[in-house]
Amino acid sequence: MSRIVMKFGGTSVGNTERIRSVAKRIIRETAKGHEIVVVVSAMGKTTDELMCLAEELSAAPSKREMDMLLSTGEQVTIALLTMALNHMGQDAVSFTGWQAGIRTESVYRNARIEEIDNVRMEQALNAGKVIVVAGFQGMDSYGEITTLGRGGSDTTAVAIAASIQADRCDIYTDVDGIYTSDPRFVKDARKLQQLSYDEMLELANLGAGVLHPRAVEFAKNFCIPLSVRSSMSEEMGTILLEEPTMEKNLIVRGVAFEPEIVRITVAYKVPFNGSLANIFTTLAKQHVNVDIIVQSIMEGIQPSVSFSIKKENFAETVQVLENNKEALGYQSTNFEVGLAKVSIVGSGMVSNPGVAAQMFDRLRIEGIPVKMVSTSEIKVSVVIPESDMLKATNALHHEFGLAVVQV
Ligand code: ADP
Ligand code: ASP
Ligand code: MG
Repeated sequence: MSRIVMKFGGTSVGNTERIRSVAKRIIRETAKGHEIVVVVSAMGKTTDELMCLAEELSAAPSKREMDMLLSTGEQVTIALLTMALNHMGQDAVSFTGWQAGIRTESVYRNARIEEIDNVRMEQALNAGKVIVVAGFQGMDSYGEITTLGRGGSDTTAVAIAASIQADRCDIYTDVDGIYTSDPRFVKDARKLQQLSYDEMLELANLGAGVLHPRAVEFAKNFCIPLSVRSSMSEEMGTILLEEPTMEKNLIVRGVAFEPEIVRITVAYKVPFNGSLANIFTTLAKQHVNVDIIVQSIMEGIQPSVSFSIKKENFAETVQVLENNKEALGYQSTNFEVGLAKVSIVGSGMVSNPGVAAQMFDRLRIEGIPVKMVSTSEIKVSVVIPESDMLKATNALHHEFGLAVVQV
C-alpha cells in the first residue's frame, strides 16, 4: 500500500462534470489499495473572478481581506468533490488548509508554509478516508487566514506529501506534462519525460507557471517523487528527479518567459558614499521581491543602480522608495514599463561556455534589444521589450534545438 497525494488544478475541477470525473480517478487509486490525500484548487477562473470583485470595490484592498476572500474559492471545491466521492460510495472528508494543520508565516497573499500539524490527517487516513484538502491556504500563528501566492495549491500538495511521508505526489493539470516551453505559446514545444528538480525550479521561478516554485523546492528538499500529468487522459506525465537519465545531451532544456516586468533605476549624487544594500534591505522589509540588479559606479558617471520587479509590485515599490528618499540618499528615480523576461535553462550549461553568447547573437539577429542580463550556472535571463517576448521565446526554442526529439 502506498500513500499518494493527488493535486487537481482549476481547469481539472472547472465544473461538476469534471469534478465527477476527478472523483472517479481518485476511486481508481483507492481501489488499488492506496491511501489518498487530494489537494484541489478553486474551480476554473474563480480566483481571478474574486480578484475582479475586490477591484470593483477598492483599488488597494487590505491584504488580510483579500486572503479572506480568495481562500473561499478552494473551500467550494473541497466540499463539492467530497460530496461527489461520498455519492459514489467512497468514504471521504474535506479539510480547509487550517483544518489540515497548515501553519504559515504571518504574511498575506504570499505566505510560506512553516509547519504542518498532520494529526487530523493521520487520524482520517487511519480511519480509511480519502482526505480532500483546500490548496493555496493556511493559517498563521495568530489565527489569521493566509494564502500561498498564485498557483500555491501545488505547494500545499507537495508540503502535505512531505509531512505525511507520501510515496509520491502527482500534479494533475490541463497539460500532459512539462514541456520545453509553454505549449500554449510555443507551437513546437515538446514534452519532457524527465527533468531535474533544479532545472524545474529555475523554470518555475522564471515564469513557467506549470508548477509553483515552492512546490519544487519542497519536492527537492524532501526527495518527493513529483510528476505532472493530465487530468483528462491516462498518458504518462513528466517526472522530476534529482538526476534524470534521459535527454542528458540537451544543453538547454527549456525556455521560460514572464511578461509585465518593470525596470527601476535609482541615481545617486556624486560622490556616492552610501550603501546600495540599503535600498534592497528596505524593499525586502516590505516583502517586495527584487529580481535582476545591475549597478553602475564609475569615475565621472552618475552612480546608479537598476533593478527589475514584477509590475504587480510597482506601486508599492515606488511608495517605499518615496517614503524613504532621505534615508536612502538618492537623487532621482526612473521607471521603464512594458518589459518582459525570457530565460533559457539547462544543467548542461555549466560545462558549455558560449551558450549566453549564442543566445545574445540570436536575439541580435532577430533585432531584439537586450535591456538587462542575469546568469546562473544553469540559466541565462534577459529583459527585453514585452512586445518581443514571444518572438524571442520561439526563436530561442528553435536556436537550441528544443523541438527536435533527442535520444
Ligand atoms: P492548474 O490550474 O492545473 O494548476 P496552471 O494553469 O497553473 O494549471 O498550469 C498549467 C499551465 O501551465 C499550462 O496550461 C501551460 O499553459 C502552462 N505552462 C507554462 N509553462 C509550461 C511548460 N514548460 N510546460 C507545460 N505547461 C506550461
Ligand atoms: N486558486 C489559486 C490560483 O488560482 C491557487 C492555485 O490554483 O494553485 O492561483
Ligand atoms: Mg497551477
